[in-house]
Amino acid sequence: GMRRIWKEHLYKVLVIGDLGVGKTSIIRRYVHQTYSSNYRDTIGVDFALKVLNWDSETVRLQLWDIAGQERFGNMTRVYYREAMGAIIVFDVTRPATFEAVIKWKEDLDSKLILANGQNIATVLLANKCDQGREMTNSGIKMEQFCKDHGFVGWFETSAKVSSEYEQGSFVCQSTAICDL
Ligand code: GDP
Ligand code: MG
Repeated sequence: GMRRIWKEHLYKVLVIGDLGVGKTSIIRRYVHQTYSSNYRDTIGVDFALKVLNWDSETVRLQLWDIAGQERFGNMTRVYYREAMGAIIVFDVTRPATFEAVIKWKEDLDSKLILANGQNIATVLLANKCDQGREMTNSGIKMEQFCKDHGFVGWFETSAKVSSEYEQGSFVCQSTAICDL
């Protein structure tokens, strides 16, 4: 008969970006299929676990939410340590949060370098797409931005309107590209 070898993986995935862009909401939607217009700090979690079963492999994604430390605009090396992938989020209704994406990416890349000398795979999320698509309607511009700044790709998301939400495919892509 066929022998199945089960493999288990645990991966740390960082979710970063400015305050209010929807990081906690995205994690809640992805992990718990819920949405609320006010997550108070007391409800906030530091990380959430999403379990994916792929063929004979179990992948546990540990999504790290920066819960309240966004105001400093950077994180410590210790916080980033051992992450396998990252998600940088901006809010399509606030252009300043898109500008901040570059700063977050630079902070991440300067503090976390893989043993092979490369940066970790990072995807860009244009969140709150239920509020408008003016900023992202030029897909070509977004593609170029990803090339210029070393993102593996970008997705429009809405934590609010789940039908707009890509069922977490952005996380799958980000980890798949890491060649996990
Ligand atoms: P964080 O600071 O990045 O963790 O952002 P939160 O998840 O706390 O979200 C900030 C605010 O934006 C909250 O009031 C959310 O309900 C709201 N929000 C988050 N995602 C979306 C979205 O996709 N669409 C809309 N319209 N509002 C959102
Ligand atoms: Mg939050």
